[in-house]
Formats: sequence, C-alpha cells, structure tokens
Amino acid sequence: MKFSKKQIERYSRQIILKKIGATGQKKLLKSSVLIIGAGGLGSPIAMYLTALGVGNIGIIDKDNIEISNLARQIIFSTEDLGRGKSSTAINKLKKINPDIKLKSFNIKLTKKNINQIAKNFDFIVDGSDNFRTRFLINDYCLKNKKTLVSGAISKFDGQVYTFNFSKKNSPCLRCFIPKMPVNLDADSCEYDGVLGTLGGIIGSIQANEVIKEILRIGDSLCGYVLIIDGLKLAFRKVKLNKRSDCYCNEKY
Ligand SMILES: [Zn+2]
Repeated sequence: MKFSKKQIERYSRQIILKKIGATGQKKLLKSSVLIIGAGGLGSPIAMYLTALGVGNIGIIDKDNIEISNLARQIIFSTEDLGRGKSSTAINKLKKINPDIKLKSFNIKLTKKNINQIAKNFDFIVDGSDNFRTRFLINDYCLKNKKTLVSGAISKFDGQVYTFNFSKKNSPCLRCFIPKMPVNLDADSCEYDGVLGTLGGIIGSIQANEVIKEILRIGDSLCGYVLIIDGLKLAFRKVKLNKRSDCYCNEKY
C-alpha cells in the first residue's frame, strides 16, 4: 500500500518514530482489532486505536446508552441517550478518522457467535464488564492462539493483562482467577462504583499494549498483570505464571 499525502501528514508524529516508521504505520493500517464492550474501557480504546490508524476495528456491545454511562463512557454525549452503543460509537469514530474500516456488532457475545464475530480480527481487546464474557473471550483466544489485551476497573483501581497465546508459555485469565466469582454476570461498576477516569487510564494502557503487540515493539506485558491503585497512584507489575492445574493446560 501507498500512503496518500493526507495520511503522511495525519500519521507524521508516529512515522517519525524510529520504532514505528512508515513500515510500522502501514502495519497498523493493515491490522485488525476487535473491541469487546463500548463502555468505560472501550471508549478510550476505540478512540485511540481509530485515531492512530489501526485499519480495521470492530466493536461489539448489545446495550443502549444510559445516563449512568456518561460519567466514564466518553465516546458518548447526552444527546445519544437511548441509542445503541456499538453503532453510536462507530458513528463517532468515523468522524475521528475516515481511513478506518469500522464494523458494529449490536449483539450479546456468546459461545455460539464468538467464532463467527472474532474470526476476522487478529487482536482482541477486552473491555467487558462481567466475568462470563471475560472467560468466554479468554477461552476463545486461547483456543485460536490470538493475542488478548484485557482490562478491568472497579472503584479507584484497575488491572491490565496481555495474553499472547501464540506463545506456549503464556498464562491465561484462569491462571490468575482460578475460582469462579459467585455472580458471573455482575457488573462491578454498577455494584461497587468506579471513578470515571479509571476507564481512561486503563483503556489507554490497553490501547498502548495492543499497538506494542501489533508492532512487536517494547516489552510485552504477557506473563505479568499490571495492577494500578488510582488513589495511591501506585503501579505494580506482578509476575503471572501459568498454573499447572489450569484449564489452559488441561484442555488444549
Ligand atoms: Zn490458564
């Protein structure tokens, strides 16, 4: 592919970076990322990935925009209340960067449809708000050897994990959370509350990690979990080992 003059200008601050360059920027434009959830995490993830030139982006979310979403889901405006999240997000993203191929999935992600939806995307970013979806995505990516960048926020805290399942020794989410939480469908933001900015902090780190994984630059977070305490402003990178008795060892 050849850059247009406008593209060279649009991406000039990244093309100038030695670790990215024209080759890296082209790689980004050719890459595909599926974002699960257009919420507090999905908003900044989608906006950054679109703005910086990830060429193919899908967003899946079945919900409509509620007023309680607006304090953290910064891709939406007050006038969007009641509209579908995924299609409204896509409409906003088109305005940010017309270069990007965008696809909206206004549907609940299930065991039955995940393969059909995710098969056309090379990288998966999880910004979902419940354990059922998180485990479903973990198991799909594990089975299909895809790279998953997962994030979670609650109260003033957040976590980021990267699982590169093309690597044999990559741990999985179940290595970190071996015991199933009691209420799989619970949205922790609804029950425990969350400060809106945590979505921006964790979502931006997730977007940054996806770019690193696509371009294979820097140190991968794979094998670690990043734990952020927003009140203390403490960042801890904790080693995450593959558990020998984990699902990821037994089944695959
Ligand atoms: Zn595991």
